[in-house]
Formats: sequence, C-alpha cells, structure tokens
Amino acid sequence: MSNLREKIITTLFEIYEQEVANLTFACKKGCSTCCTQSVTMTATEGQMIIEFLKEQNRIEELHEILKRSESKYIPAHTPNRLAALYHEKKEVKEESWDLNPCCFLDNNCCTIYAVRPFACRCFGSTVQCDLNHSAEQPSWLISLNTVMMQVVEHVGQGEYWGNMMDILLELSSQSRYIGREWQGEGANKVDRARFRLLTAEPASNVIVPPEDEEKISQLLNQISRTEVYKNTIGVLVGM
Ligand code: SF4
Ligand code: SF4
Repeated sequence: MSNLREKIITTLFEIYEQEVANLTFACKKGCSTCCTQSVTMTATEGQMIIEFLKEQNRIEELHEILKRSESKYIPAHTPNRLAALYHEKKEVKEESWDLNPCCFLDNNCCTIYAVRPFACRCFGSTVQCDLNHSAEQPSWLISLNTVMMQVVEHVGQGEYWGNMMDILLELSSQSRYIGREWQGEGANKVDRARFRLLTAEPASNVIVPPEDEEKISQLLNQISRTEVYKNTIGVLVGM
C-alpha cells in the first residue's frame, strides 16, 4: 500500500464490512444487474484499481477497456456537495443513469472484486432485485451507506471524484499509471472525461435521520479513533 489515503480507504472498507457482517443479503456471485456504468468513486479508489491490475499484469486489458468504453452517466454532485445543498435547502440537479453493464464484468462476475470502490461495496439488497424490482435495504443501512460515501469522499478531498470510467481515464493519462501517452481520439476522450469530473469535498454536514443519529455518531467516533500508521484517522483527515 503505497499511499496514506489508500490505507485509510482500505481501513474504512474494513470497518464498513464489520458493520454489515450480520446482515443477510440476497446478493450472490453471478448476480450482476446492479453492476452498471453508473458507479462513482474517488481518485484514490481509482489508483487502487490500477495498482491491482498492474500487479496482475492486466494493464493492457485496462487500456483496451478504456479505449472502447465511455459511460454516459455524469454525476451532477458529489455526496458532500449534495449534503451541503440539502442543508442549505438548495436545488439539486437531475442526473440520468447509464444502465449498460459495467466494463469490469466477465461472465456476470466482477474482475476487480478485491478493489471495487465503496459505491459497489454498499450496493446490496435484502431481496432479489433486477431492472424491474428495486433493491431493498433497512433504513439504518441507507443512513450508514450515505455517511460512509461522504467519509470516503472526505478522505479524497481536493482530488477528482466522479464516474468510475472517467476517473480511470484521467488517471490513465498519467504515465506513472499506464506508462503510455494517449493520442488523437484517445487524448480527446481523456479531455472529455476530465471535463466531466468533479472535485471531492470535505464532509461539512452529514445526512442522517434522527432515529439513526446515535448509531452513526458512534460509527464516526470509531472511525475517528482508528489508527493508521500510528496516527488516528481523525487527526490524519480532520474529522
Ligand atoms: S443488489 Fe440486486 S442485482 Fe445486485 S447482486 Fe444484489 S440482488 Fe443481485
Ligand atoms: S466494479 Fe465490479 S462490483 Fe462494481 S459495478 Fe463493476 S463489476 Fe460490479
């Protein structure tokens, strides 16, 4: 793990997995209707995916995926911007999803499962869902997921945040990740991706219904006190 932010994000994933360990989900290997091209993430999560693919000698595969794909999903706001707009009672822009299958699916299974971003980790359902039947989650889990999305963004504040494919395209334009230059249409594609990306913001407000406040507050305290490289996350990221 080369980077402090990556280590913090990995620690957040572990804390989250402990929190949901006792829940029973309908999700199982090979069920992938929810794996669409509308996944969002921070640049740090993108770095973790690229490093994983490098370790597996799959950079050429990533390059081919990025060459042929371009998601139509453009998120309008980051989770922390949404929370701020909600608190200020301001209008939220509409978005339209891209429900085409995620580019990392193979035979209905995720080929980057170990390093999938938080948006994928928190998308589960207690009932079998598909395009005609919505996913269901207990309300406290929706609160937990919303706040965790905010915390993950908080850790990545100041860096790019957005559609998974746009983040990977942007990172792939940096030679330290992919080791080659994009040219012609490829370079234009990277420019378009960069234009669509947003900037991760600090979590100034969190969106939590009153009935979940105590549980979420305990979780935030636990995260804040957890040590990473001999410092607490609270000190490292100011929370
Ligand atoms: S969220 Fe729905 S589609 Fe996705 S794995 Fe779970 S049951 Fe399957
Ligand atoms: S990264 Fe993996 S878990 Fe996430 S949407 Fe794509 S295939 Fe599904």
